[in-house]
Amino acid sequence: MRRRRRIKIIATLGPASSDRAVVASLFEAGADVFRINMSHASHDGMRERVAMIRSLEEQFGRPIGILIDLQGPKLRVGEFESGAVLLRKGDAFTLDCDPTPGTQTRVFLPHPEILSSLEAGHRILIDDGKVLLKVTSAGNGRAVTIVEVAGRVSNKKGVSLPDTTIPTSAMTDKDHKDLDAALEEDIDWIALSFVQRPEDVVEVRKVVQGRALIMAKIEKPQAIARLDEILAVSDALMVARGDLGVEMPLEQVPGLQKRITRLARRHGKPVVVATQMLESMIVSPVPTRAEVSDVATAVFEGADAVMLSAESASGQYPFEAVSTMNRIAEEVEAEEIYPSIITSQRATPERTGADAIAVATRDVAETLQLKVICAWTASGSTGLRIARERPRSSILALTPIVATARRLALVWGVHAVVTDDARDERDMADRACRHAFIEGFAQTGERVIIVAGVPFGTPGATNNMRIALIGPEGGSA
Ligand code: PEP
Repeated sequence: MRRRRRIKIIATLGPASSDRAVVASLFEAGADVFRINMSHASHDGMRERVAMIRSLEEQFGRPIGILIDLQGPKLRVGEFESGAVLLRKGDAFTLDCDPTPGTQTRVFLPHPEILSSLEAGHRILIDDGKVLLKVTSAGNGRAVTIVEVAGRVSNKKGVSLPDTTIPTSAMTDKDHKDLDAALEEDIDWIALSFVQRPEDVVEVRKVVQGRALIMAKIEKPQAIARLDEILAVSDALMVARGDLGVEMPLEQVPGLQKRITRLARRHGKPVVVATQMLESMIVSPVPTRAEVSDVATAVFEGADAVMLSAESASGQYPFEAVSTMNRIAEEVEAEEIYPSIITSQRATPERTGADAIAVATRDVAETLQLKVICAWTASGSTGLRIARERPRSSILALTPIVATARRLALVWGVHAVVTDDARDERDMADRACRHAFIEGFAQTGERVIIVAGVPFGTPGATNNMRIALIGPEGGSA
């Protein structure tokens, strides 16, 4: 099964997509990677979903990526005597360390480290920014605030602190337990929420030890301030526009999306655009024009993947949401103007053998108008560096490692196939031609370009490029 687009689709699984038949239909409709959100999934639920996806992988004979999204330090207020209070503009309201139920004038904030980090002037946003409090004084386990934007606050509503650097890591006790449980399963990517600093990612990497790749979710101003350093220690970024749009002014989100996608593309690391892409499809079988345009923007930006959250996890139309996203991506990529937009954002290569080969490969493929670039890749790095060039030809990644094929499911333009490592250069050409033929990328009599690291089995040693002709039965002529 081949996709007719380069950008990938991530579909979040949830109650609306827990059934095997539904998940299979989402894969067929275009989902390349499934996301399991640990804010909502139990360990047993996560395990069942992973097992189901792996069995669908066998059924369809295609690698499928699994992304486990850790909740991170999501802050919440405690409970109220009456379940909720209505705060009026100008009211004084205190957050404190008293666990008794809240009233019209105070509520418990069960995070002592946060209370001691708040300072006068800091903003406190409640319930995705619907209510805004400003700290007037803080100390001794309490923060006194004044209500700037009025509204209703009910039990356990989420709290965002755009001005406060939270003095804890991005991993809570729950995240550590969720991560350990996830790493016991066959999963590919870990997404880390509310990253503030590079150390947050480094801490997770020590636990993960290569068993998965790490995606940093960019959703806090503190992460924007240290974006380069965070990218340097991450394997991928997610533009997590939900929380980003709460912690930063909403009108800054589109510009930030462009900055984040370009930076990740420049470094050849996958970047995902997430949240509210087809939000209205939670309750409607068709999207709004604005949503279609939003997905199209991410496609034109050359993002590696677009993501569905509630649309596929808890909405009424998960299948329609994935197929709509698939159709938009196919249509946009077929636009005459698409290649020139993608090419104009191409980054200059790094001074490495791998990048020199990647650029040369793209040039040769374009000069000869070859339909496919076959990349032998063990770690996935050759596939990533070729994808970084955003070539017009398809990218067929050939790997002996199933985990690599699954990880590459998230990467722009890469169609990965698991195959035994090549024995020698003849076998390398022969098998690349055969897979290009079988997967329908090229016909007998057509040429393909093959990239590899020789000797085989040495990750990161991309040093070989050749052109081969497909023979009568798909082998090299
Ligand atoms: C987001 O905030 O955009 C996001 C993807 O994270 P979550 O869905 O976990 O809130």
